[in-house]
Amino acid sequence: MKYCKLCVQPDTRPGIELDASGVCNACIGHEEKTAVINWAERKEQFENLIKSCQERKDGPYDCLIPVSGGKDSTYQLHVMKNIYKLNPLCVTIRTPARTELGQRNLDNLIRIGVDHIDFSINTEVERKFIYKALEKTGIVSLPFHMALFSIPLRFAAKFKIPLIVWGESTQMEYGGSASDRKNPYMDAEWVKKYGCSDGMLGEDWIDQDLSENELYPYCFPDGEELEKAKIQSVFLGYYFKWDPVKNMETARNLGFQHREEGPALGLYDFSDVDCDFIVIHHYIKWLKFGMTRLFDNISVEIRNGRMTREEGIQRIRQNEVAPPKKQISMYCDFLKIPETQFWEILETFRNHVIWKKDDKGNWYLPDFLKGM
Ligand SMILES: [Zn+2]
Repeated sequence: MKYCKLCVQPDTRPGIELDASGVCNACIGHEEKTAVINWAERKEQFENLIKSCQERKDGPYDCLIPVSGGKDSTYQLHVMKNIYKLNPLCVTIRTPARTELGQRNLDNLIRIGVDHIDFSINTEVERKFIYKALEKTGIVSLPFHMALFSIPLRFAAKFKIPLIVWGESTQMEYGGSASDRKNPYMDAEWVKKYGCSDGMLGEDWIDQDLSENELYPYCFPDGEELEKAKIQSVFLGYYFKWDPVKNMETARNLGFQHREEGPALGLYDFSDVDCDFIVIHHYIKWLKFGMTRLFDNISVEIRNGRMTREEGIQRIRQNEVAPPKKQISMYCDFLKIPETQFWEILETFRNHVIWKKDDKGNWYLPDFLKGM
């Protein structure tokens, strides 16, 4: 494991690459955000995009906003409704582990003034698919990610909505290639690369256990259908400088509520508030990549100058990475499997290149924070 010399990201994290001088592509992306990108120009591009979509819209809604009930959802709605005075339709894919707080924040969005579709998936299909995907990829909620990216496109096509506005651009914030950082579009290629889908789309999972009809909510609409509907599916984070802390302030002023206690594996009390399973997803990164959500959050804080790298490293050293027991128990209840089975599956995804066993048989990371 090698760490970026400016932030705390290890090169084991998917998407992260260090250049010859030891700087990661997420830090280079941030440098582009502060010193290279002409944000006034990007804003103008976005306004032209809205204009062209308005000219050819054929229904009551100007744009579609995929929302989870998190702070970014509130921020996206604020930009499209309050700043650009548009009439958005919001769409949520219901997670099997929606939190009470997530529900309250969704209710708040509707109160701000927007029509909302809450799309739920057949529990039996979801359970079968989640288990299958966990066993094969070690990703906790892979099917959920697939539905999250495909269902909004389906609704945009059905309701003839020309524009879909996603939140942050993953490749600009957490590491991605230079050409991907210049790409505003969310499409099938993006999902395979950055959508936590292990390089697959819903249709790749059709077999004797899961039929094409059962997997419909997870399958990406075909290019032809989207081409015909002329839908523009873009990241707001490409056009406006993204900062989770500033978005949080905007969201809070509009009634968004954060959690009282911080998540075990991250830094912010306002992130990942909408689903109880997300924290398990972050935990598995520990076994696969030797990092957790805390590394992502701290790296963002360092890049934004709100924390020094030394403080960040100190914070990581003090933090003991413990499995989120309550959430794992809920997850196993949902899947109807014993926890021992969950742990057996998880262990098959431990990365033996970075994890070694000591004399007493305990796992440890020999390169953890080495040289930092
Ligand atoms: Zn970095």
